[in-house]
Amino acid sequence: MEAYLAVAMTIRPILVIPDEKLRQQTELVTAFDAELQTLIEDMFETMYAAPGIGLAAPQIGVMKRLCVVDVSKRDDEEVPMALINPQITWSSEETSLYEEGCLSIPDYYEEVERPAKIRVSYQDRAGKAQEIEADGVLATCIQHEIDHLDGVLFIDHISKLKRDMVWKKYVKLLKRDGPQTYTPKPKMPPADDGDGVENLGEL
Ligand SMILES: [Zn+2]
Repeated sequence: MEAYLAVAMTIRPILVIPDEKLRQQTELVTAFDAELQTLIEDMFETMYAAPGIGLAAPQIGVMKRLCVVDVSKRDDEEVPMALINPQITWSSEETSLYEEGCLSIPDYYEEVERPAKIRVSYQDRAGKAQEIEADGVLATCIQHEIDHLDGVLFIDHISKLKRDMVWKKYVKLLKRDGPQTYTPKPKMPPADDGDGVENLGEL
């Protein structure tokens, strides 16, 4: 990591639905150059400031196939992971349920059922091929972020009724106030709502 310490980091503005970039496919990353390293550092900086546990490039308007995640608890040491060109190569039949949120759909949380375990192949920031198996919060977080890279949002995994409701709310906000794009500043994590299902915060 030492080689990247000199990179200046910038918190980037986060796009909010119904921004059409959040519905588009991303392009494979082919250049593992200084520009990519800066992008990765900016994505981490933006994710931590939000605060979030994951961020995909389209959420800051960059249509490239990469995301960053860090599911370590707030008080523990940060465990940052940058996944470049990630692909899910296997997922379990067993599922798990988490309450998800999304930095691009502020103030909305809903339970989502996803495969409990996944295997993911990806490239690290140096371009080296890697593979990981993930379960628990990490498995859900990575699936949420990879969805973003394919223009899919977590509300696509909930009922149409609920999805239409939240979508219409943001279409209305756009018409009334313009794009809801925001630049995060450090704030407190969302409070536990006491329903017994772990709230992941925003991804
Ligand atoms: Zn998200």
